[in-house]
Amino acid sequence: MDSDLYQILGLSRAATPADIKKAYRALARKYHPDANPGDVKAEKKFKEVAQAYEILSDQRQRQQYDQFGTIGGAQQRGFQGAGGISDLFEAFFGGGNPFGGRNFRQTGPPAGRDVEVVVSVSLEEVVLGGETTFEIDVSVACNKCEATGSSGKKEAATCRTCEGQGIVQEVRQSLLGQMMSTVECPDCKGYGSVIIDPCGECSGLGIELKAKRFTVGIPVGITTGVTQRLSGMGHVGARGGGHGDIHVRYQVTEHERFERAGDDLHDELWIPMTQAALGASLEYETIDSVEELQIPAGTKTGERFRFRGRGVPRLQRRGRGDLIVTVIVDTPIDLSKTEKELLRNFAKERDKAAIDKKSKNRKRR
Ligand SMILES: [Zn+2]
Ligand SMILES: [Zn+2]
Repeated sequence: MDSDLYQILGLSRAATPADIKKAYRALARKYHPDANPGDVKAEKKFKEVAQAYEILSDQRQRQQYDQFGTIGGAQQRGFQGAGGISDLFEAFFGGGNPFGGRNFRQTGPPAGRDVEVVVSVSLEEVVLGGETTFEIDVSVACNKCEATGSSGKKEAATCRTCEGQGIVQEVRQSLLGQMMSTVECPDCKGYGSVIIDPCGECSGLGIELKAKRFTVGIPVGITTGVTQRLSGMGHVGARGGGHGDIHVRYQVTEHERFERAGDDLHDELWIPMTQAALGASLEYETIDSVEELQIPAGTKTGERFRFRGRGVPRLQRRGRGDLIVTVIVDTPIDLSKTEKELLRNFAKERDKAAIDKKSKNRKRR
């Protein structure tokens, strides 16, 4: 490798381990073969990036590289084997392939697909947590042939085209001359073997669909669109392939009272005009508690009261948002005869007070 490892990751020699990890992640996503199918340049770049990361993320190797500009053995070894990169992904992304259902591999049966499930949860569940249960059809190993795909009378035969490797070398003509590339074996589709006598139950796939029930804990503080990954719980791959994942995508239903804005909750509280004028002490129900709400005398429509920490828990952080209550003064529309009389008297009293006030002002001038 002739380029500088730091340059490959777009970093300076002063880069911290966190910088290196971040740069690698971004570049690995950008150049990943799954994101650039058939792009040889991207594949080369991807390998370079992975190699640079492997060395620079290891403190001992990085020191050696900084000092000597080379790593004993590592550069020759490179990433020719599939093991290097997939192992790296294992370590980095916690298993599986972050770019799609199919695992990064060169041989062996492909892993099963991922499944997405949309789960509706209430705002109460977002605040208090809880569990959700759903049932979906996922592929599991065929019970009859134990995932082999063969009926048992005759075992699968090693594929002659690829000699059981699942991959073949393909020669292509290009402007630069002959190009060799590794592709999936067209005869066995990468499995390395050919089914001679397919299992009657699964027609040689080695899998069957089964309704399975899952129960998951709802993470508190989620918003619509947040996805939770259930690693290795998805479809099993044909003929002994690994498991895909389940992605639980949450949808938070609207609440009849509370409106959510980030981690804060908003509510409107209608109070009678008498309470607004005279003040009152009320029992107010938040989403998960009962609080005392003091309405001061002379409260007007639009005034806000804040309950600190009675909003939505912050996702994967400590603390909760606030609950903000906006008061609306309720003007009565169904007055009885007596109430009307009382209000007329009240109005007269107010008029007198208003006139007195005006005359006072006039005098003062
Ligand atoms: Zn079967
Ligand atoms: Zn083959």
